[in-house]
Amino acid sequence: MSRGDDLDRWLDGHRGELLRQLIDWVRIPSISADPEHTADVRRSAEFLAAAAGEAGFPRAELWETAGHPAVFAERMEDPRLPTVLIYAHHDVQPADPLDEWTSPPFEPVVVEGELRGRGVVDDKQNVCMHLEAVRAHLAVVGRMPVNLRLLVEGEEESGSAHFEDLIRSRRSELAADLAVISDTGMLGPESPALTIGLRGLVYWEVRVAGPAHDLHSGLYGGTVANPVLGLATLLAGLHDGEGRVAVPGFYEAVRVPGAAERQEMARIPFDEAGFLAAAEVPGPSGERGWSTLERRTVRPTLDVCGIWGGYAGAGAKTIIPARCGVKLSARIVPDQDPDVIADLVRRHLLDRAPAGLTTTVEVVSRGRWVSAPPDHPALGAAGRAVEAVWGRAPSLVREGGSIPPVAAIAAELGLACVLFGVGLPDDRFHAPNERLRLEQLHRGTRAAVRLWDELGTLGAAGLGRPAGPASPG
Ligand SMILES: [Zn+2]
Repeated sequence: MSRGDDLDRWLDGHRGELLRQLIDWVRIPSISADPEHTADVRRSAEFLAAAAGEAGFPRAELWETAGHPAVFAERMEDPRLPTVLIYAHHDVQPADPLDEWTSPPFEPVVVEGELRGRGVVDDKQNVCMHLEAVRAHLAVVGRMPVNLRLLVEGEEESGSAHFEDLIRSRRSELAADLAVISDTGMLGPESPALTIGLRGLVYWEVRVAGPAHDLHSGLYGGTVANPVLGLATLLAGLHDGEGRVAVPGFYEAVRVPGAAERQEMARIPFDEAGFLAAAEVPGPSGERGWSTLERRTVRPTLDVCGIWGGYAGAGAKTIIPARCGVKLSARIVPDQDPDVIADLVRRHLLDRAPAGLTTTVEVVSRGRWVSAPPDHPALGAAGRAVEAVWGRAPSLVREGGSIPPVAAIAAELGLACVLFGVGLPDDRFHAPNERLRLEQLHRGTRAAVRLWDELGTLGAAGLGRPAGPASPG
C-alpha cells in the first residue's frame, strides 16, 4: 500500500468528523458586512483557532485588525522544508433574500450528497479541507512534509478593508516560499482546474438628488428634473449597442489575448450550457466578439449591482422622487489599473451628469487583478496532486471573480500564488441555497494531502529559495 492509499483510508474513516466540524462552523453566522454580526465573526474566528490547534498547529491565535479578527496558525516542522502560506476567509456573505432559501442558511443540512448553508462552499469548506489534510498527515505519517502558515481573514466578503495593513504589520510572521490561496473553484465535478488568474474589482456608489423632498407629480411633473429619469439616462449611456463599455479609455490597458491563448481557452472544458442553466437565463449576453468564457475571464465588465429611488410599494403613489442612487461594479483585467478605472468612470459619470440635479460619485473600493505564470513549479506540483485524485490533469483557468487580498499577498509579500479550491460554478456562491457537493470536499482533501507531499518533494530550492538552512521568517 502506498502512502497515498494510507492517507486516503484515514480520510475515508474520518469523513463524519470532518462534516460535523464544517456544520458546527457554518452554524456561526459570520457575516462581516453586517454590524449586528460582529460578535459572530469573532466567534467564528475563535472556533477556527481552536480547530487549528486541535488539528496540529502548535500556534493558533486571533490577529486583531481595526475591523474583524483574522486567524493565524503555524506549524513549523523543519526550517529546511518549504514554508507555505495558506490564505482563506472565515466570514460569509449576508444570507438575504431569506425567503428564497429552502432551509435556514445557518442551519446546514445534508440533502442528496450536498451540504446547504451560507458559507459551506465560500469559504469554510476549503479551510476544513486543509485542517483535515494536516490531521491525516500527522495521524498517518507523524509529521508534515512542509511548514504551514495559515492566515484566514474575517473581512473578505466585505472588502478586506484592513487586510493590507494586517499583512504589512505581520510581514515577517507571514514569510513563506509560496502562497496557496483557497477561495476559488473548479469547472465541474469531472473537470478539475487550477486558477491562474483573477479579475480585479472597482466599486462605486452614485447618487442623484433633485428636490429637497418628494413632490406631487401632478403639481410639479414636467416642470422640474426627475432624478430617477436622470439616473436612468446616465446608466443607459454606460454601454454601446455591442455590449462594450462606453467609458472612453476603459479598454486602453486591457491585455488582449492572442490567437494562441484564445485557442488554448477554447480547449478548456467549460460547460457553457450548464453555466447558463445554473443562472436560469434563456441565453448568453455580453460584449460582441467574445465567448462566454472569455467574457467572464479576460474581458472587463461594468455592471449595476443595485438601484433605488422613488415609490416601489403597492398600488400607485404619484410623486417626483427627491433622490435615487445606484451601485456599480467593474471587473478589471490585466493590465488595467484600479485607480485609473475608478477615476475614468467617475469622471465619465460626472461629465454626463443630468442637468438640474446633483450627482455625486463615491469610489467604494478597488482591488487589483492577479495573474500567475503557468510554468511555475508549484503549479506543476498542484497539478500532479489534483491529477492523482481526479484522474486527469487540471485545466489552468482564469476566474471571473476578484479576491483583492490575493493581489495584496502577491504584491506585499512577494509570493507566487497557487489558487487551489474545490467549489463548483453552480454552487450558488453569494446566493440563496449555497451548497457544497461533499464529494468535492473529499476529493479536495485527498488532493490537499498530496499537494503537501508534492511540495515537500519539490523542496525549498525547487520553489526558488536561495541555498541556506533557514526557513524564511
Ligand atoms: Zn470567498
